[in-house]
Amino acid sequence: MSGGCALCDTPGGEVLWADERVRVVWPAEADHPGLCRVVLQAHVAEMTELARSERDALMTAVYALEEALRELLAPDKMNLASFGNRIAHLHWHVIPRFTDDPHFPAAIWDVRVRPNPRPVPSDFAPRLSAALTRRLSPGVA
Ligand SMILES: [Zn+2]
Repeated sequence: MSGGCALCDTPGGEVLWADERVRVVWPAEADHPGLCRVVLQAHVAEMTELARSERDALMTAVYALEEALRELLAPDKMNLASFGNRIAHLHWHVIPRFTDDPHFPAAIWDVRVRPNPRPVPSDFAPRLSAALTRRLSPGVA
């Protein structure tokens, strides 16, 4: 489906890993540069509309992404969130949090309390992509 859905019409960021059901994208957001999203490839609004195997595929990617981000960035905390109020197309925010990030300890959508987010390494995207491939498609070189 399309018709004005941002996640049907665009990838939503640089695609770091994808298969037929799920993609992992990196939008390179200014305040939270390590934030990535796991996006269902199909236009579906709710987790309970999915078959069990589809839910499992989506959450397997969420957990693999959490693990890969912890490995690469050593955050103080990981945040997982799924809302879909503005874009009713299933996606999970997977957010590495640091005690000195612009919103900590509040949610990243709350009031910004400090500047200067810490940057991600310059090779972040290829390293995260490789870490996801190792976890999610181990047969691929
Ligand atoms: Zn959509």
